Amino acid sequence: MAARRLGIEPHPTIAMNNLITLLPNSRPSVPDNPAIPFVEGDGVGPEVTAAMRAVTDKAVQTAYSGRRRIEWKEVLAGGKAFERTGEWLPEETTEAFRTHLVGIKGPLMTPVGGGIRSLNVALRQGLDLYVCQRPVRWFKGVVSPVKRPQDVDIIVFRENTEDIYAGIEWEAGTPEATKVLHFLQDEMGVKKVRFPSTSSIGIKPVSREGTERLVRAAARYAVDTGRKRLTLVHKGNIMKFTEGGFKRWGYELLEREFAKEMKDGRLIADDCIADAFLQNALLKPEAYSVVATLNLNGDYISDMLAAQVGGIGISPGGNINYTTGHAIFEATHGTAPDIAGQDKANPCSLILSACMMLEHIGWAEAARSIETAITRCLSQGKATADLARFMPGGTTLTTSDFTAEIISHLN
Ligand code: ATP
Repeated sequence: MAARRLGIEPHPTIAMNNLITLLPNSRPSVPDNPAIPFVEGDGVGPEVTAAMRAVTDKAVQTAYSGRRRIEWKEVLAGGKAFERTGEWLPEETTEAFRTHLVGIKGPLMTPVGGGIRSLNVALRQGLDLYVCQRPVRWFKGVVSPVKRPQDVDIIVFRENTEDIYAGIEWEAGTPEATKVLHFLQDEMGVKKVRFPSTSSIGIKPVSREGTERLVRAAARYAVDTGRKRLTLVHKGNIMKFTEGGFKRWGYELLEREFAKEMKDGRLIADDCIADAFLQNALLKPEAYSVVATLNLNGDYISDMLAAQVGGIGISPGGNINYTTGHAIFEATHGTAPDIAGQDKANPCSLILSACMMLEHIGWAEAARSIETAITRCLSQGKATADLARFMPGGTTLTTSDFTAEIISHLN
């Protein structure tokens, strides 16, 4: 009303759709009832998505006494999309994530045939979600293969758009691979391809810009959360221009944009060769807090760390573009077709991804209460079969009962 009196009309689209928008300081501006698109997912997707929504809704309602509420908006991708529309990833879905900025998705099956190799990758590329963020921590009660899983508390920032994972490769013996080989040999003087006629060829692009935006996001996170230590993980000793470039450009960015934070001790930056990191992370995980690394290293590192805390099936993840504000949070496991529809799936990966989403939009109280509720259940040995069977005296619950148990611990 006050705005009207001043002659300022509210933005009609924003007012009607409850959109999350991006503020000039790159933080999301969130209404009390934001519309959030979700993809149910394939296989166990419907079960874990239902659990995630129930837990998230209750946590938000409790944390904010009913003042805040998520307006869930289903969008289609994967098998359900193909059945209904003939497309694996309809344009409206990408468009909905683009318009609403923040969304969440269950696991998706890999399309059979067609031009899309992976729906997850297609979504990440479509929205240029350049950070894959994977927090790894131990939950009391979860059986782990190491002696002190509680020492692992690491947030991995994995670059999501470049590296040998960019999808630029040609199969051995194809005219394309032969053409690239001829170019390398005839025009670039390359003599190091050991078996040229039977080699497939892949390309590893790593750019200064790609490195800078990833390292900037990780450094900002380390400062904002008070974690302080940021480690750049790379194989720059061998791949001098790509991974070595990542290290050099990373340090240069930090010296340029975070000099003050480094001087006053709010940011402590170092680097580590990837193979040494894998050893150290097992032997002295407490030495690491925020890790920034390239795409392939990040893939190995996040899963190894998750296994270390016994959490490979419950690890959450988020894909984020900190410049545009687009973010899609997701279950990190697959569709688990062997247990789909049996009320057995562990919903923790997607529920904890929802916690990341709540934190991302500034609803940290709701996120904390879910984490506390999950910790209580797991520390009492109450879990789905995948975890309970390894817990001494563990109680196996169905997905629905485990979800109800988490909800009963929300306060
Ligand atoms: P996809 O082809 O979608 O990757 P997959 O079966 O190859 O499926 P995952 O879905 O990750 O790969 O499953 C690997 C194993 O882990 C399976 O035995 C599956 O039942 C189990 N699993 C995966 N997710 C969960 C979950 N949320 N709860 C319980 N078990 C799970």
